[in-house]
Amino acid sequence: ATMPPLLSAIANAGRHGVLVKSAVVMERLGQVDGVALDKTGTLTEGTPRVTDLRPLTGFGPTDDGLTGSGIAGSGLTTDGLTTDGLTADGLLALAAAAEHPSEHPLARAIVDAARTRGLALATAENFASAPGIGVTATVDGRTVAVGAPARLLNRTGGAVAARAAAVAAELETGGRTAVLVEVDGVPVGVLGIADRLRPDAAATVTALTALTGTAPVLLTGDNPRAAARLAAEVGITDVRAGLLPQDKVTAVQEQERAGRKVLVLGDGVNDAPALAAAHTGVAMGRAGSDLALETADAVIVRDELATVPVVVALSRRARSFVV
Ligand code: ADP
Ligand code: MG
Repeated sequence: ATMPPLLSAIANAGRHGVLVKSAVVMERLGQVDGVALDKTGTLTEGTPRVTDLRPLTGFGPTDDGLTGSGIAGSGLTTDGLTTDGLTADGLLALAAAAEHPSEHPLARAIVDAARTRGLALATAENFASAPGIGVTATVDGRTVAVGAPARLLNRTGGAVAARAAAVAAELETGGRTAVLVEVDGVPVGVLGIADRLRPDAAATVTALTALTGTAPVLLTGDNPRAAARLAAEVGITDVRAGLLPQDKVTAVQEQERAGRKVLVLGDGVNDAPALAAAHTGVAMGRAGSDLALETADAVIVRDELATVPVVVALSRRARSFVV
């Protein structure tokens, strides 16, 4: 027998490195007329690096080798503010200890930076993660929280919090993701983290706009400043930032209520509810979370964004053979 068109399309998608989970999905891919994209790990490579270490607890100049231009040879910058016992390395080690159990790309960046600097990590207990917010854990008997400044600082107040917010805003304006570290509810420092845009991000946005007839929207849990900067680089104008996982679902449902069939493309645990709610959910395979890969209808196995418009086109071609 000749291969039915949708099955040959699945085989073809496989050759492009896209795992389409069923013939129904292969058919639905060609129906989409709207696209919602996640930022971190989807439009960006998802291998962010720690670029800045800003301990907060002390405000004077220090003698621990930190300068405004950074820690010698590390490629990391600080503004020379430390300590009261917490050095730049101390801040990094504390954040890494709490983040160690997390599979979030920001957590991996923090743990990798600590490893690269040869820091010993304390064991974390009572680890808990809140998707789109951050993590908490008990380290050396103290409660350490690491996550989005805008979320964590809501719960704090005072001069140190104001200083933390100012440092975070400065880093974010520079296109960084700022990550706040708190000990027992008190901000002790801010990390700056930066990620690279995938090389095929802008071309994929253009191709998806042409194919679906609508411009993709960016749905991200990251801060509005970093989100706007990246969106401008890929040609996206509709940006929704600071979203919790459920907010991504709401954004998708809004579009679907307006009659759109939305393709959601994401990689994280925080994207799983939106991937499930979407007309068609597609996950980034290489570094995507297990939950995203299991929830999605299709998986971009080798993380090549440019294969998304390719499979939409394959579906349309196959469907034109199916009556
Ligand atoms: P995106 O939607 O861009 O993939 P996420 O929803 O995964 O981003 O994360 C949104 C924000 O939540 C991050 O920018 C960060 O501020 C915070 N966050 C989430 N998880 C963590 C974590 N493990 N460590 C630090 N910050 C985190
Ligand atoms: Mg993501």
